Amino acid sequence: MIFLDAAATTPVRREVLDAMWPYLTGEFGNPSSHHSLGEAAASALADARAAVAGVLGCRPGEVTFTSGGTEADNLAVKGIALARQAVDPRFNRVVISAVEHPAVEESARYLERFHGFAVDVVPVDGTGRVTPEALAAALRPETALASVMYANNEVGTVQPVARLAELARAQGIPFHTDAVQAAGWLPLDVKILGVDALSISGHKLGAPKGSGVLYVRGRTRIEPLVHGGGQERGRRSGTENVAGAVGLATALTLAQSGQQQLADRVSTLRDGFIREVLRAVPGAVLTGHPTERLPSVASFCFPGTSGESVLLELERQGVVCSSGSACAAGSDAPSPVLTAMGFEAEVAQTAVRFSFDSTVSGDDLAAAAKAVGAAVGSIRTLGRA
Ligand code: PLP
Repeated sequence: MIFLDAAATTPVRREVLDAMWPYLTGEFGNPSSHHSLGEAAASALADARAAVAGVLGCRPGEVTFTSGGTEADNLAVKGIALARQAVDPRFNRVVISAVEHPAVEESARYLERFHGFAVDVVPVDGTGRVTPEALAAALRPETALASVMYANNEVGTVQPVARLAELARAQGIPFHTDAVQAAGWLPLDVKILGVDALSISGHKLGAPKGSGVLYVRGRTRIEPLVHGGGQERGRRSGTENVAGAVGLATALTLAQSGQQQLADRVSTLRDGFIREVLRAVPGAVLTGHPTERLPSVASFCFPGTSGESVLLELERQGVVCSSGSACAAGSDAPSPVLTAMGFEAEVAQTAVRFSFDSTVSGDDLAAAAKAVGAAVGSIRTLGRA
């Protein structure tokens, strides 16, 4: 099987499992317990936090462990907007881009439904990019928070986050970015990015599902969503997932250590794959930005097919990929990301995403490109018959 669906999830890396193992077995203490087992767990958690902070270029106290990317996004969007509204009720708007993951978009809609916020949606261009001008036009004195993802999960387009964050912060508006897909592929230094909050998910990086991180800058006010014993400096109550935090920290450190070389190698493979697919499939359309895209994502529309049928045919040929984001898979609705980019619904329904992890090889991609040509060819022939 050639697995080209790494943007959906990745297997846990051996080194990550090894690092986690003690905290799932002998060192099973609760970090809040005042005995040696508890202290060992607290110290592992502190080390994990320091390691994540090292990658992000922030202080350990600015790192909150969560149950994944979805929770990190919810905490950032709802937590920061509600905290600002509590200080001054005039802060009653949030700005998001038109291509956010549902974890951000639905958090904003929740604020709209239950807390009287208005949601301002910033349009994207045909490549999926938010321009600084478009963001500037959406920011208002009442904006409590702006959230624009670092890299898109369906088409891989990378946003000019540093420039966008600078614009928002110049107006005193906290800026959050969902870096779930960017982590491991792009630089994550929060000072260089200039963001106030940033979300990461462990399972896209070789850590287990159900592990995540939210970075929140220094004194940024944030209302917790989960109340209880006050763990994570009161930002996220509940006994900490010590093994998950250790796993995420290990995976993030490993991913960032060779990040630039990996990004260069995989970008070259990706570009070769894109060329091969465009050659093998007449009429295929590359979606997303031609150059400002994740090294790990190649996404296309194959007019005259349906994304789901291409997916099934490819799986029969041993290639596993995705017909859209994992959350949208199985639904017939065209991808809101592609429609926001200006694709007609019938074309958007033909979308297929190929996404790679750090182990991807040129041979696998050459075989996959051939399989794509054969799969789309046979679906189009059958469709005409
Ligand atoms: N944000 C983006 C951009 C994603 O791609 C995903 C997962 O696909 C998430 C958030 C949600 O992360 P998790 O699966 O850890 O909840």
